Amino acid sequence: MRIDVLTLFPEAFRGPLDVSIVKRAREDGLLDLHIHDIREHATDRHRTVDDYPFGGGQGMVMRVDVLDRALEHVRAQAPERGLVVYLTPAGERLNDRIVRELAAEPRLILVCGRYEGVDERFVEHCVDREISIGDYVLTGGELPAMVLIDAVTRHIPGALGDAASPEEESFADGLLEHPQYTRPAEYRGWKVPEVLLSGHHAKIAAWRREQRLARTRERRPDLLEGAEGERAPGPGSGA
Ligand code: SAM
Repeated sequence: MRIDVLTLFPEAFRGPLDVSIVKRAREDGLLDLHIHDIREHATDRHRTVDDYPFGGGQGMVMRVDVLDRALEHVRAQAPERGLVVYLTPAGERLNDRIVRELAAEPRLILVCGRYEGVDERFVEHCVDREISIGDYVLTGGELPAMVLIDAVTRHIPGALGDAASPEEESFADGLLEHPQYTRPAEYRGWKVPEVLLSGHHAKIAAWRREQRLARTRERRPDLLEGAEGERAPGPGSGA
């Protein structure tokens, strides 16, 4: 899968995507990640990428012409057209279903806003999908883009290695995951639930299913109600 990112701060992407699973996916050629500097497509002496909002108001707005040139330039670098995603608080709120849909695309082009955001004409004519990572406002789209890249990478076949699967994580069956424990079995008198030490696989599976359901009911009842378009727990999920 190829992901292109358009940003005013390419340096922000150094570090978080150079460790662990995402790093390995890049090294193994599963994720082909390219970071592009929008400012390279400004044409004036000062390399201006923003301007005052028409109609007045606070802050600056990213210019449609600069963004369009940057997108055309990036698009021409690979044969796939690419699904253009603008990270914005005004977008659909990111969830497991959307991550899976995006992970099925051969190419994503992520656009990171800054200032008050981008000129709406760019969204209207060039953007395929607007995505928010939650109901709060960040200073830029770089962190949301990294969140999306990380989440999507986990769904690229082979990225988690042979032993792991995204199907065993929270949300995969519509429920939150059960609690996890490791050694020592007792620490400061804090004990691991007895059933996990029993070696009885059927009982362990039943206990985990109960825990998943109880947690979901208590913390995220909206998931059980199928709210926000989440997938309802499927057969075998215990719901
Ligand atoms: N004026 C915008 C508003 O009120 O909706 C906020 C602009 S924000 C300061 C600058 C940029 O950060 C946005 O263009 C967007 O790319 C990114 N951003 C901020 N919060 C975000 C969120 N919750 N999800 C996705 N992107 C976000």
